[in-house]
Amino acid sequence: MNIASHFRVKPASAMSLGRFDTDATPGVKDKAAALNQLSRDVERLAELQYTLFAENRRSVLIVLQAMDAAGKDGVVRHVLTGLNPQGCHVTSFKVPSGEEQSHDFLWRIHKQAPARGMIGVFNRSHYEDVLVVRVHHLVPEPIWKARYDHINAFEKMLVDSGTTICKFFLHVGRKEQLKRLATRLDDPARNWKVAEADFTERGYWKDYVKAYEEVLERCSTPWAPWHVIPADHKWYRNYAVSEVLRQTLESMDLRLPKPAVDITALKKKYG
Ligand code: ADP
Repeated sequence: MNIASHFRVKPASAMSLGRFDTDATPGVKDKAAALNQLSRDVERLAELQYTLFAENRRSVLIVLQAMDAAGKDGVVRHVLTGLNPQGCHVTSFKVPSGEEQSHDFLWRIHKQAPARGMIGVFNRSHYEDVLVVRVHHLVPEPIWKARYDHINAFEKMLVDSGTTICKFFLHVGRKEQLKRLATRLDDPARNWKVAEADFTERGYWKDYVKAYEEVLERCSTPWAPWHVIPADHKWYRNYAVSEVLRQTLESMDLRLPKPAVDITALKKKYG
């Protein structure tokens, strides 16, 4: 089973997240097999990153979006753990600063787009500008409504400039989310993660679902596809993301550059 195409959202297809099984684990026999494949993928991703860096022509952008506690940080920790930090840059987007707010919404995003040879990871992203901003009416509707087209055009420009974009919505169920938030209250080692907003935002669940559905319907493009990943099982979520990333990087047909010097001559001289 091809995990990447299984979870890829077809452009302009109607999306009903309510009908999506957040508990699903397709394409793998059991947890042990998934963990096995994950560790193989982690190794393979390191090799692919090495070639991407050496090639120094193209870049990769990974976008992570999710409801609270769905596991964006977990994906960074477990799936991207084997990458060379020198070739990887993670940006966590928070509430925009005063300076950021005084520019267009893509200004702060574009500055963090990965340079040639790099893998960029967006932990939250420009999609917040049609998610939290829409749900909490932070800007008038005509402004956020125009942003889907702005986002698609922006991503197309990045792709035309040599960036491969891979977007993930980690889809956790409402009950599983509550369980995880409750665990954070009970576990002193995780108390620091607790924010009251995580609980109050649950009250807007339906609004977020609607906002995510529109994102997935309008912004899963042939050049920058979304993947909806079932995220109730952390092991499956990590496995599925690693599979999609491995397949995506493999499809880039990355090649080491030819040596800039005459290796045979240098071997004779110094070898
Ligand atoms: P996280 O939940 O990602 O671990 P935080 O708890 O610091 O990190 O939350 C970041 C907050 O910033 C989230 O509530 C998110 O909705 C908010 N945020 C991110 N981008 C924007 C934006 N463009 N406008 C308003 N709020 C935003």
